Amino acid sequence: MSREERIKAPRGTFDVLGEQAGVRSILEGRARSILEGAGYERIETPVLEATELFARGVGSSTDIVQKEMFSLDDGGGRSLTLRPEGTAPICRAYVEHGMHKRKQPVKLWYLSSFFRHERAQAGRYRQFWQVGAEALGSEDPAVDAESIVLLSALLEEMGVRGVRLRLSSLGSGESRSEYRERLQVYLRAHEASLSEEVRGRIELNPLRAFDSDHEGTKRIMENAPRLLDFLSLEDAEHFAQVRDLLEVAKVPYEVDQTLVRGLDYYTRTVFEFTSDALGAQSGVGGGGRYDGLVEKIKSPATPPTFGTMIKSPPTPGMGWAAGIERILLAGDPPPVAVSPIDLFVALDTPGTSSRRAAFGLLAEARSAGLTAQMELAGRSLKGQLGYANVLGARYVAIVGKDETGLKDMQGGGQERLATDTVIHAVLRGLRTL
Ligand code: AMP
Repeated sequence: MSREERIKAPRGTFDVLGEQAGVRSILEGRARSILEGAGYERIETPVLEATELFARGVGSSTDIVQKEMFSLDDGGGRSLTLRPEGTAPICRAYVEHGMHKRKQPVKLWYLSSFFRHERAQAGRYRQFWQVGAEALGSEDPAVDAESIVLLSALLEEMGVRGVRLRLSSLGSGESRSEYRERLQVYLRAHEASLSEEVRGRIELNPLRAFDSDHEGTKRIMENAPRLLDFLSLEDAEHFAQVRDLLEVAKVPYEVDQTLVRGLDYYTRTVFEFTSDALGAQSGVGGGGRYDGLVEKIKSPATPPTFGTMIKSPPTPGMGWAAGIERILLAGDPPPVAVSPIDLFVALDTPGTSSRRAAFGLLAEARSAGLTAQMELAGRSLKGQLGYANVLGARYVAIVGKDETGLKDMQGGGQERLATDTVIHAVLRGLRTL
């Protein structure tokens, strides 16, 4: 096969090999201990979801829904999408499994792969992994602060360099609508200087103008009305409490009024951690509060008939997601420890009968709780001993026709034993370490 014909991983995707897999396991372990220690429970949702979930949940005016979803037909005329994010699926699962009946807030965490049809570059892929946490069922500002503090702790444990936390509030309800209208009036008045994309979004999603890289738009946005000036008393109080609790926890932050985040569902608190160790893609993780999202996902296509309608209390939510690849790019994770094995089973003479005896010894070793491997590649005895050394084997059993030589790789000694007494000798040796 020529170089050109060789099949490679698709653009924007990658294989996770060797040491990288080890470092990811460390990150997963740290995330588990931090999040489960704080009462978050692991959740796995399907890779494929109904496209409607993201259209409704993430919002039809967002980049994700407009241009980044990998969608396919399920063969029956229904559109399915490879999940581009984790919050909408978790809200769906919360509704589908009646989690409102549990003690609130319900705290869930995940570490999964996500898919976005983006222009691939360093730190931006089409299949990437996120660790995320969602707390549903409470609007207490302590939920917001706790959630942010937990991500801060994870980034610190993974040694992420040059971390900054930007924080803002998007308000909610009427104050948000009033602000939106005011911003639309302002943007229309400066339409000529705005990018085509921002102009096209004035009606649907005017707040995204703050995210634009377009020079003309950036200049106009410097003097745009600011959301924090429009917050209702309740929203302003909520924001003040979140800030106060972050100060109590000694997590430094900067209020950034231009932080709007790309997803439609956020209300009140929004935040983003960036790292100056990353290039253009400096976002390591972020999230916010999404009161109202569960209701949006729950609302049936046809409203229930009068009489069956039971008014349930709304379900507020708060969560974040952080990119695994970006944490590792900007981080300084602890070195991956190689785990040595207890026993390597080598073959003195190649052939079927030695292989049978060696395989039996391997099975016996594992049943006894030892970590063990056997020769699988037809190496010479010298080659096998070299390989056992690379694996860090404590003992090597050299299985012969009638008996087995047991070599102590640390002490250097070797004894000849009946094969059926080898495991006993290894266990005894390990106990006297
Ligand atoms: P978002 O879900 O867009 O709020 O993204 C949360 C985090 O996921 C970001 O801060 C990144 O660390 C990571 N992320 C988002 N999109 C990608 C991507 N295409 N490739 C790699 N990481 C990503």
